[in-house]
Amino acid sequence: MDEVTRQNREHTLFSWSVQSQANPIHMTGGQGVYFFDDTGARWLDFSSQLINLNVGHQHPKVLEAIKAQVDTLCFAGPGFATGPRAELGTKLSEVTGLAKTFFTLGGSEANENAIKMARHFTGRHKIITRYRSYHGATMGSMTASGDMRRWPVEPGMPGIVRVFDPYCYRCPFGKTPDSCGRECVSHIEEVIQMEGPQNIAAVLVEGITGSNGLLVPPDDYYPRLRALCDKYGILLITDEVMSGFGRTGTYLSTQHYGIMPDIVTCAKGLTSGYMPLGAVIVNEQIAAYFEDHMLWGGLTYSGHPVSCAAGVANLRVYEEERIFENVREQGAYLEGRLLAMRDRYACVGDVRIKGLFSVLELVRDKGSKAPLAPYGGSSPEMNALAAYLKAHRVYAYSRFNFLWVCPPLVITRAELDEGLAVYEDALAMLDRQLLG
Ligand code: PLP
Repeated sequence: MDEVTRQNREHTLFSWSVQSQANPIHMTGGQGVYFFDDTGARWLDFSSQLINLNVGHQHPKVLEAIKAQVDTLCFAGPGFATGPRAELGTKLSEVTGLAKTFFTLGGSEANENAIKMARHFTGRHKIITRYRSYHGATMGSMTASGDMRRWPVEPGMPGIVRVFDPYCYRCPFGKTPDSCGRECVSHIEEVIQMEGPQNIAAVLVEGITGSNGLLVPPDDYYPRLRALCDKYGILLITDEVMSGFGRTGTYLSTQHYGIMPDIVTCAKGLTSGYMPLGAVIVNEQIAAYFEDHMLWGGLTYSGHPVSCAAGVANLRVYEEERIFENVREQGAYLEGRLLAMRDRYACVGDVRIKGLFSVLELVRDKGSKAPLAPYGGSSPEMNALAAYLKAHRVYAYSRFNFLWVCPPLVITRAELDEGLAVYEDALAMLDRQLLG
């Protein structure tokens, strides 16, 4: 272990880790889809760090904008008007079709504030979320999350009610495409009735579920959910922290489904992670409400000029370099490659993909669909897979029985091929282990 890593380990705490098991890579630099470690080794970043580094490492235009803003005005308090805040707020209204933005520092804070605003606007307190979801690690957003990461803080924040997910590969209602009646939406109506519609402020869902296995909803899921919310005067909040801002080839993943949420939360791809920034973007009615009601919330760094400047530059790169077109083109190629892997390898049970947001769901055999690792756990096979990718310097995100492919959105076909070749070898190794 080198000195830097030793000091990191000795004097800092790593998130989501039993500290004695934290095994960080010492990153010393990056370029495009690659980063470098202290031994000089080059890694292919197939996870865009935490699925946020959308324009890749060290994009010169974003770096330039940050440097220029630092030289002009490094900080202004949240009550001041600034140029970058004006430009980013205006741009966010334009690309989302919503009215106004409240800036935060990241996704967790964005969800905290969205929940608070929804409660104040509606005068109701319950929030419906889904089980296979993650909304952040602050107390409220962690409670709002559905997955096991909420367990350690429970009972957490009161008022969260959970429903099941559009998880077609393992339909929680036991349906198949032939028998499906979109119970993943209709059961929400029953939950609403049992909880009292007059008590429910909002339904909060990830646009497309990310870290719980990338669940792409059926085409009419959102139109039905939107109609259900409208029927009971419940706000629809979509958490686009991971799925938004280019990851699926649109600004919002719900733009694929032709619906408009009432509130959108975002972070990650908003600045591609170059500076910390999150946002709560609200519709006209909610914006109008806060014209003559207090917004009970604030953050010292809300609207930070350097973060906003990074956001403006990042979105400019999206447009100037036609990033969404690349997502569609490379995404279509990636989809073909992943589907071929599903056909070729016994351990690949399902493939789910939208743009450059994709996952392989791994199983012991396709017939039983037995997961290669249990929910909330790992297995020798999944550990071997992660070790193989690491040994071949492909930085990838895996969790439970899922293996993601979420590269920077600037990736080329040749770079995709480079990483997918390693994935193929790893899957072949798994098949040999499973089939004996
Ligand atoms: N929401 C979703 C869907 C996320 O994936 C994440 C982080 O991974 C968050 C919220 C939390 O964002 P942050 O880590 O910026 O607080």
